[in-house]
Amino acid sequence: PQDTVNVVVVGSGGAGFSASVSAHDNGATVILIEKEPVIGGNAKLAAGGMNAAWTDQQKAKGIEDSLELMTEDTMKGGRYINDPALVDVLVSHSKASVDWMTAMGADLSDVGRMGGASVNRTHRPSGGAGVGAHIVQVLYDNAVKRDIDMRMNTRGVEILKDDSGKVTGLLVKGMYKGYYWIKADAVILATGGFAKNNERVAKLDPKLKGFVSTNQPGATGDGLDVAANAGAAMQDLQYIQAHPTLSVKGGVMVTEAVRGNGAILVNREGKRFVNEITTRDKAAAAILEQTGKTAFLIFDDSVRKSLKKIEKYIGLGIVSTADSLVKLGKLENIDGKALTETVARYNSLVTSGKDTDFGRPNLPRALNEGNYYAVEVTPGVHHTMGGVKIDTKAEILDAKKQVIPGLYGAGEVTGGLHGANRLGGNAISDIITFGRLAGEEAAKYSKKQ
Ligand code: ADP
Repeated sequence: PQDTVNVVVVGSGGAGFSASVSAHDNGATVILIEKEPVIGGNAKLAAGGMNAAWTDQQKAKGIEDSLELMTEDTMKGGRYINDPALVDVLVSHSKASVDWMTAMGADLSDVGRMGGASVNRTHRPSGGAGVGAHIVQVLYDNAVKRDIDMRMNTRGVEILKDDSGKVTGLLVKGMYKGYYWIKADAVILATGGFAKNNERVAKLDPKLKGFVSTNQPGATGDGLDVAANAGAAMQDLQYIQAHPTLSVKGGVMVTEAVRGNGAILVNREGKRFVNEITTRDKAAAAILEQTGKTAFLIFDDSVRKSLKKIEKYIGLGIVSTADSLVKLGKLENIDGKALTETVARYNSLVTSGKDTDFGRPNLPRALNEGNYYAVEVTPGVHHTMGGVKIDTKAEILDAKKQVIPGLYGAGEVTGGLHGANRLGGNAISDIITFGRLAGEEAAKYSKKQ
């Protein structure tokens, strides 16, 4: 081995960074490796927010939430096949995780709503900045402050064990250095999911063959093979989430917050067809049933003003704009008369406070201010729910449900927490809580070695 350390963390997304910082703060020496030339994984692309219940930020806004409600929403969203013990960890640590990030310098003071949530609990920066980039930046700054050894272009290849089955380190391949070993008491896998690997995706869910993906290039799932070689058990790999709103024009994912803040979805015929803030699996399935398998997000200036991210979408050229719905319809080849009627009907539902057509639970604003906007969208592969099996200490289990000593997992590489379908806002919550937990547990374990 060329290097000796207490804990090696594989992957530089939110889970890997949280694990690195937390392992360090619990007394461990840490090396963080990342196979790509850049840090941040998919985490840095996350646009929604961080779900948490019973937080000071919610209280400051008069939002009534409870741990029970967040548990129920998460289980319902996951079709009740989630591992309840992992959900309990997510929910019960969620406030502490928001506080931990805030203490490190994050701004999570704004609280919005994402699909499948009964109340506003998605914590995000005020002013509409992207939550993922912000969180990764804060974690990176904290890792730099702690002088954590970070190595890009370095792939985790194989977990090394002794005869008793205990982890002794990791074989890695550096782009320039080639293969070398890092001797370590514990390895934390935080390698993310495999949504970008359509071959792997389509083998598990043939319906998704040929689908585009919202993910960064590193989301290929080779971390799962590393884990499998070390004897890790897998869970729920067949559950793969399509994000409902990928822009047809630009292949850019349009955050659920656009709908959360008031946009509606209509089809080519200009008609609404779904509760816009239902869970992602249902929204995606509903869009695939429409003409041409696409739909249109429709909103006005009041929605635009409420979310900074929309300026980015406009800058990318994926948004059509007109000063009337009929003109907007012409630009996108949507039936303009029907669209006008649909928006008028929707506005009357907003006034009445109840969506008797599709049961949308939040009706934040009528669409009647200034210009109108349309974005054509279609589902893209977004998140892989399945992965390695872990326990409530983020320890990775083998096929006999025995802990593999010294091997930990956190974030999208793990399965079980989100069941069959992950709620928007629960990924950031997952990676911070389980990353932090994995770092702490691995550091404690290392001290005993
Ligand atoms: P999470 O949201 O769970 O933190 P991300 O997708 O944000 O997951 O981050 C996972 C990171 O792990 C990505 O940057 C990816 O490139 C990296 N990665 C994946 N496999 C390996 C590997 N075998 N070795 C090193 N890094 C890896």
